[in-house]
Amino acid sequence: MAKVLIIGAGGVGGVVTHKCAQLTEVFEEIVLASRTEEKCRHIAAQLDRPIETAQVDADNVPELVALINRVKPDLVINVALPYQDLTIMDACLEAGVNYLDTANYEPLDTAKFEYSWQWAYQDKFKEAGLMALLGSGFDPGATNVFTAYIAKHYFDEIHTLDIIDVNGGDHGYPFATNFNPEINIREVTAECRHWENGEFVTTPAMSTKQSFTCPDGVGTYNIYRMYHEELESLVKNFPSLKRAQFWMSFGESYLKHLEVLGNVGMTGIEPVEFNGQQIVPIQFLKRLLPDPASLGPRTKGKTCIGCVVTGVKDGKPKTVYLYNICDHQACYAEVQSQAISYTTGVPAMIGAKMMLEGKWQQAGVWNMEQMDPDPFMEDMNKYGLPWAVIEEPGFDLV
Ligand code: NDP
Repeated sequence: MAKVLIIGAGGVGGVVTHKCAQLTEVFEEIVLASRTEEKCRHIAAQLDRPIETAQVDADNVPELVALINRVKPDLVINVALPYQDLTIMDACLEAGVNYLDTANYEPLDTAKFEYSWQWAYQDKFKEAGLMALLGSGFDPGATNVFTAYIAKHYFDEIHTLDIIDVNGGDHGYPFATNFNPEINIREVTAECRHWENGEFVTTPAMSTKQSFTCPDGVGTYNIYRMYHEELESLVKNFPSLKRAQFWMSFGESYLKHLEVLGNVGMTGIEPVEFNGQQIVPIQFLKRLLPDPASLGPRTKGKTCIGCVVTGVKDGKPKTVYLYNICDHQACYAEVQSQAISYTTGVPAMIGAKMMLEGKWQQAGVWNMEQMDPDPFMEDMNKYGLPWAVIEEPGFDLV
């Protein structure tokens, strides 16, 4: 029986709150706080049980500390934006409470994806006897746990990892992003980095693609190699990996729009002066694009996200693919959200559950693959993200 404070009332915040609210036996009390309290109240009104809402500016540590001290949660679930990770971690340390997030810290003025800032909190959390669980979404999150599970149960040593994230959903707009547009566009326009023979190799964004056929009739999609933050912790925690890559599917229309927007400067993160005002182009673009939270009712199709791992078992080479398929419309029917927020929010709830039940409880700052994957994987099957394994899938991957 525990009390959680969820910070952030966007697409992911909505799903985490729904999923926690479904599990009264674990999440006895829930407080949902965000910059715009009206959005918290909107989510609260969708639930079958009452929860408290609050307003907070998560960039402001004293305000956060005051809220945490008033609410006295056992855990803070951070599903605001990556810019707020450090302020929320600071507030958790000051107020003496455990922490969980779904995305690594990013400074507002540089699109830089790395764990260095958050890993630097290791000693502080250890000394305080508190736990910070990093990246408990789908990717990062479930993909880290999938890798740990495959390594634990199928191999003596793993050698290559390909994380493949396919979104076969269609929302009917010529261009929209499935989660926060600013974060999404910063990520996909960043240079690609993949791990090869002991170092990260840099290539231009979207310069390597291949075709991938998902299992169970989800379809065939073009997937593009890009950098994704879980690669950093996975290659550190699985040093036997000789190569690690991340792939994501994109439709032609999405890529064409992104190219044009990039060419005209609309995806820039540096402020420009307009009519006497400083405007950050990507933030202005976010204002014009559909709110990801509004895509739920109109998105049809499925996501298919999984890990292909090669390595050796009993001296013999083998390949294992572990994946989840999630249906956008089924997610909407359950929690009024599309599958991208759903596949992030469910692992956030499960990560929180692992911590609150003491199954994952260790002072310090941890990535998901450092924990025992088994209870998490069991809960993925129970709470809406069932997975399957194909041994020797016969993929012909680059
Ligand atoms: P949204 O933009 O939909 O929601 C973000 C929420 O955070 C909004 O409610 C926003 O408030 C709130 N917020 C922003 N700044 C502040 C602040 N200073 N103080 C308080 N609240 C604030 O984003 P998503 O729900 O799509 O994403 C949430 C998180 O999940 C992000 O960190 C994202 O990177 C991560 N994510 C992780 C994935 C994974 O698989 N690991 C996949 C998808 C997302 P307001 O409504 O006022 O703007």
